[in-house]
Amino acid sequence: MNKFIGAHVSASGGVFNAPINATAIGAKAFALFTKNQRQWVAKELDSETIDKFKYELEKSGILPKHILPHDSYLINLGHPDGEQLEKSRAAFIDELERCAILGLDRLNFHPGSHLAKITKKEKENPEIIKPIEDICLDTIAESINIALNKTQGVKAVIENTAGQGSNLGWRFEHLAHIIDKVEDKSRIGICIDTCHMFTAGYDIRTRETYDATWAAFEKIVGFKYLMGMHINDSKPPLGSHVDRHHSLGKGEIGLDAFRFLMNDARMDDIPLVLETIDETIWKDEIELLYSFIN
Ligand SMILES: [Zn+2]
Ligand SMILES: [Zn+2]
Repeated sequence: MNKFIGAHVSASGGVFNAPINATAIGAKAFALFTKNQRQWVAKELDSETIDKFKYELEKSGILPKHILPHDSYLINLGHPDGEQLEKSRAAFIDELERCAILGLDRLNFHPGSHLAKITKKEKENPEIIKPIEDICLDTIAESINIALNKTQGVKAVIENTAGQGSNLGWRFEHLAHIIDKVEDKSRIGICIDTCHMFTAGYDIRTRETYDATWAAFEKIVGFKYLMGMHINDSKPPLGSHVDRHHSLGKGEIGLDAFRFLMNDARMDDIPLVLETIDETIWKDEIELLYSFIN
């Protein structure tokens, strides 16, 4: 097996600290924010910081393709308001450029939210919700097309969501809808978060459900787009649409799903990143995951 496991490590003090923090927990992959994830604007990466990042990365032995940077939580590429949408699109382009400057080849982001004020009942009515979702998914795809046209090299990697609030991207069909409308298919990818997948309603706890869920993924989206995963257990139950991660084996998913994953060649050679809640045990969680490999 060819598994590259790590965690979303801190880049506080400078992006070059991320590979140092990854090495310290025995990671062979990692995620990071290349800027403060709760602010719109960040200062440009200076050449000293960039050189230091590349030096530390080289020292860590971790390859750029096993690094999955995450964009800012403020960005909503499906925003219904024109001005806010423009702001998000500009910030997204900046994020892609920061990745390119650091020599990284993929950027992970949450697709977006439609923000419509509708009741829970309306949300469950396809006649009402489908047109709202379609408009938002089209907007997201257009945002991606604009960003890919204005940048080079870095792939846009859409993360599946739990479907909390008006977040889209929780159904495999949403992901397929966006990919379908992206012009440059060579620069679009998917990151599957196991907690989000589970609370979105896709079970992976038994051999049977694990196989069925991934068969659906292959049919609707396709493994050729899978460019990273977030490895999290879940506090809330199946189908709850609530996004709360848990440490491996302590949540509703349990360890079997992660055992299946570690022995599944379809997840080879991509970053497998922990976003579990207790970073003091990340080293143990990484060891545990490696120990699952038969
Ligand atoms: Zn995630
Ligand atoms: Zn999450």
